[in-house]
Amino acid sequence: MKVTEYLEKSDKPLVSFETIPPLKGKGIQALFDVLDPLMEFKPPFINVTYHRSDYIYKKTEIDTFRKVVVRKRPGTVGICAAIMNKYGVDAVPHLICGGFTRDTTEDALIDLNYLGVNNVLLLRGDSLHSESHFRAESGGHDYAYQLIEQVVKMNKGIYLADELRGAAPTDFCIGVAGYPEKHFEAPNRKTDLKYLKQKIDAGGHYIVTQMFFDNNQFFEFVKNCRAIGITCPIIPGLKPISTKKQVVSIPRTFKVDLPEDLAEAIDACKDNAAARQVGKEWCIAQSKELIDFGVPCIHYYTMGRVSTFVDIAREIF
Ligand code: FAD
Repeated sequence: MKVTEYLEKSDKPLVSFETIPPLKGKGIQALFDVLDPLMEFKPPFINVTYHRSDYIYKKTEIDTFRKVVVRKRPGTVGICAAIMNKYGVDAVPHLICGGFTRDTTEDALIDLNYLGVNNVLLLRGDSLHSESHFRAESGGHDYAYQLIEQVVKMNKGIYLADELRGAAPTDFCIGVAGYPEKHFEAPNRKTDLKYLKQKIDAGGHYIVTQMFFDNNQFFEFVKNCRAIGITCPIIPGLKPISTKKQVVSIPRTFKVDLPEDLAEAIDACKDNAAARQVGKEWCIAQSKELIDFGVPCIHYYTMGRVSTFVDIAREIF
């Protein structure tokens, strides 16, 4: 079933989890170990992130450097199939522009369609570590809205090759990303929202937000979306802080702010166990307030770690 159908049919807020593929070589059990305990909460769908290849420089025996391609977490499509098979839960693969041409995108969507996956979260992707800014693949998409346009065309049976007539239409429900604190590359919130609306106008069916730690950012974001005519469901994304180091690494990696109270409370913790407790309580309080606000679903970024989410979901769902 499609994400939007779950949202429409439910009379109470839903829970969804986002997971990452295991590190290459770990095996599928590593994924099941993360997901098994979460099934208690009957998530209607589970998101699976996409991780493209990157380049690193490896030192050779003669002290020169060799550029090698590394892909640490392959397997998004296979994992989606495994989730649907083992748990009977819909999977939402993330599909990105980076590293894909329009042709390889089409092939990836055909694979998903054959597997019975009819949900996708469409994203641009970030720049590679080896790049200063995002560069589309030659023949690929520069922005997520162009990827959305391609999927919308396939949903109408319009594939890339002109000579393909009467091609089988796909039927993908399309999620897109939104940024309550604005995407870090956008010059200001207004411009970022204009481009978010472009994604919805292009055919996005719902928005999942980047993580945030101050609900007021989300409330303001929803108000601003509604003011410019974005009427689709907006699903907040939450992640509890679980280590002391994350006070620095989360803002650096995800380009989001931590409220002073939270940052000070984590700083004052004597170890990671204490930090995890503070992060969990903060996330529970955020979740409760968001449900009171009337969100249709809460999306938790598990990043492959699970016990904290079990505690949080037991409090909320
Ligand atoms: P876009 O919507 O294309 O926007 C990118 C930037 O360009 C923004 O600053 C926007 O304001 C600007 N922009 C958009 N359209 C235009 C235009 N027409 N003209 C000029 N500027 C424009 N990354 C992964 O690699 N794999 C994942 O699985 C993944 N999952 C994610 C899940 C969620 C819920 C979120 C919030 C992010 C995820 N990301 C993932 C990260 C995401 O790929 C990055 O944040 C990326 O930098 C932006 O992606 P986007 O789809 O929001 O891009």
